[in-house]
Amino acid sequence: MRKFWSSMVNRTDPYVPGEQLNQPGLIKLNTNENPYPPSPKVAEAIKDEMGNLMRYPSPTADLLREEIGKLNDLTADQVFIGNGSDEVLAFSFMAFFEPGKTIRFPDVTYSFYPVYAKLFDIPYEETPLNKDFTISPEGFYGSEGGVIFANPNAPTGIYLELQHVEKILQENPDVVAIVDEAYIDFGGESAASLINEYANLLVVQTTSKSRSLAGLRVGYALGQAHLIEALVRIKDSFNSYTIDRLALCGALASFRDHADFTSKTMQIVRTREMTAQKLTDLGFQVIPSQANFLFASHPDYEAKQLYLQLKQRNVLVRYFDKRQVDGYLRISIGTDEEMEEFLGIVGSIVGKSV
Ligand SMILES: *Cc1c(COP(=O)(O)O)cnc(C)c1O
Repeated sequence: MRKFWSSMVNRTDPYVPGEQLNQPGLIKLNTNENPYPPSPKVAEAIKDEMGNLMRYPSPTADLLREEIGKLNDLTADQVFIGNGSDEVLAFSFMAFFEPGKTIRFPDVTYSFYPVYAKLFDIPYEETPLNKDFTISPEGFYGSEGGVIFANPNAPTGIYLELQHVEKILQENPDVVAIVDEAYIDFGGESAASLINEYANLLVVQTTSKSRSLAGLRVGYALGQAHLIEALVRIKDSFNSYTIDRLALCGALASFRDHADFTSKTMQIVRTREMTAQKLTDLGFQVIPSQANFLFASHPDYEAKQLYLQLKQRNVLVRYFDKRQVDGYLRISIGTDEEMEEFLGIVGSIVGKSV
C-alpha cells in the first residue's frame, strides 16, 4: 500500500536497464558492455584477495585513488571512487544540485539523469539537441542549478569537442557542471585535463565499458578537492564501504595493465569503424560515433520491427520507445565475429548483403 511509502518513494520513476538475457548463442549488443574479458591480471588480483574477505575493505580506497589520479595527472584527493558510476552520479546529484534550482541536461541523453532528478526533487530543463543530434553548447550557458551531460553523449555516440565543454564551464561559474565520460576511452579527449583550471568541473568515468568490468561495479569522479570532499561527505553519511575488497583490487590491477587496455579499446574502435561502414552499405544512416556503440536508422525499415526481428534471430540490440529516437537502433560493438554475424542477419532482413 502506497500510504506506507515516503514521499520520496512516491515520486520515483525508476530507470529500466537493458535486458540481461542469458540464452545460449545470444549475440548481446544492447547494454554497451565490452565483448572482451578483463585483463587476466584482474582475476589474479581478485584470487589473491579472497583470503582477506573477513576484513572490511578500505573506506577511502587510497591505492586506487592514487593510481587513477596518476593516470590523469591529478592527486588522490582529486579522485572519488563509487560503486559504479551510477552511484557516483547519484551522490553528485545530492552533493551539487538542489531542490528549487533548475538544472539542465540534453533532451536526448542517459535516461538515468531524470530518474535522479525526480528522486532528489531537483527541477530540470531538457535542453534540445540540434537536428543532427549534436549538443548545442549555448543551450547550457547560464544554468540556475547546474548542468550534466554525457560526452560522448548516449545513445547518440556523438562527442562534443573540449573547447565547447570549456565554454560551458566558463558560462556557469557558480554552479557545478558534471561531464559523464562513460565512453571517453573510445576516441574523445577527456575534460579531466581542465580540472585544475575549473573549480566547477566534475568528470565522471567508469570501468564498466572500456575496462570490461561492468560486473565489478567501479566508477569514479575527478574534480578539485572541494568537490571530492562533498562526495566523500555524502558517501560517509550513507555507507562507508561502498566498494568491496574484490572490486578495489580488481580495478587496481586493471588500471595497472596499460597494454591490455590499449589493445582492447583500439580493437573495439576498429570493429566500430568496420561495422559503421558495412551498415552504411546496407542502407543505414549511421551517426558518427566516438563510443563503443553505433546509433543507426534505416529509411525503409522501422527500428522497432528491426529490433524485434533481430531478437527473434537471437541478436539483442537496444531500441528506445521514445519520441525523437524511436527511429533508431543502438548497437553495441562486439567482437569482429559477433558483428559479422549481426551484419549477415541484418542484411538478410533488409534484403542485401555485405
Ligand atoms: C553505462 C553508463 C553509466 C553507468 O556506468 P556504471 O559505471 O556501470 O554504473 C553512466 N553513464 C553513462 C552515460 C553510461 O552509458
